[in-house]
Amino acid sequence: MSLPRQWPICYKNELMKILLTGGSGYIGSVTTELLCDDGHEVVVFDNLERGHREAVDPRTRLVVGDLRDPHAIRDTMQEVMPDAVVHFAAYALVGESMQEPAKYFVNNIGGGVHLLDAMVNTGVKKIIFSSTCATYGEPEEMPMHEDLPQRPTNPYGESKLMFETALRWEQQRRGIQPVFLRYFNAAGATEKYGEDHEPETHLIPNVLKVALGQTPFVPVFGDDYDTPDGTCIRDYIHVVDLARAHILALEKDVTGPFNLGTGTGFSVQEVIEACRKVTGHDIPMKMSPRRPGDPPRLVAAADKARRVLEWNPRRAQLETIVADAWAWHQAHPQGYGRA
Ligand code: UDP
Repeated sequence: MSLPRQWPICYKNELMKILLTGGSGYIGSVTTELLCDDGHEVVVFDNLERGHREAVDPRTRLVVGDLRDPHAIRDTMQEVMPDAVVHFAAYALVGESMQEPAKYFVNNIGGGVHLLDAMVNTGVKKIIFSSTCATYGEPEEMPMHEDLPQRPTNPYGESKLMFETALRWEQQRRGIQPVFLRYFNAAGATEKYGEDHEPETHLIPNVLKVALGQTPFVPVFGDDYDTPDGTCIRDYIHVVDLARAHILALEKDVTGPFNLGTGTGFSVQEVIEACRKVTGHDIPMKMSPRRPGDPPRLVAAADKARRVLEWNPRRAQLETIVADAWAWHQAHPQGYGRA
């Protein structure tokens, strides 16, 4: 017997039908893979603007559409009638958001609101939203727990916070069940799916490009921060562990924010050192000016996710994360569709 449509909870071990936006992107593709492995039915809604068709798991149905078109998502929601939504589709580059703020608000908030409106119209309650530690801005405390003030320092973080706020209002007024997963630094890969951005701005893929001989050195953006070696500290979390948190959040009757990180920070220099060890390559680095908007230190207090979601990162060691990323980059030296 199927549950009535307004029933808000997805029970563990029950197979779900999920509408997942952004399944051609990095974290979206891995989450789709894990959902399919678990036997769930996934419909991917994606405009393929920044992702890759090859990254969409073939076990899903792909609907090519843009969230900025309210009719496209409304029609898809009505036709699919999912048990829950997992929402990744967004622009996600801090630097670009500083250059073109409106673009981020139109896509990340405008598109998100069309998705939310389609859910409300169709009676779909549960949404797992891909949020970020960038909603906190420069944190007052370290490690960072979920109750810290949210004061983003860039339009990307602001756009994610604004959509959290829209979801909270719909929760209060019309019973939407939002879960905000605030990611720290996603890294690593599965055998099939990995990180392929154009341009690539993230540290680990940029370091591995040097190991592959594609670039001569890795720029280190600032070595005069107030940290032990002067470079920025981040909390790197394996993309498979991140993806697993989405599935736990779907399975449990939970709402609200969860920080997703390991609780351990590594400096840029420590990451480069780990990459040298894993790849066996001498990776030259070049000290460069600070990158605008980079906070010196971002490390999660992830005990709420461990306690409430029963989330237990299994590939938490930095060298494991780097080794998995390295395996994927070696197998796909030019990224998707160019291997
Ligand atoms: N970084 C760097 N060189 C690079 C890319 C990144 O020094 O080629 C630094 C960046 O300034 C930040 C850290 O590495 O301090 C992590 O950056 P990334 O873009 O991977 O993630 P972010 O924390 O900005 O989301």
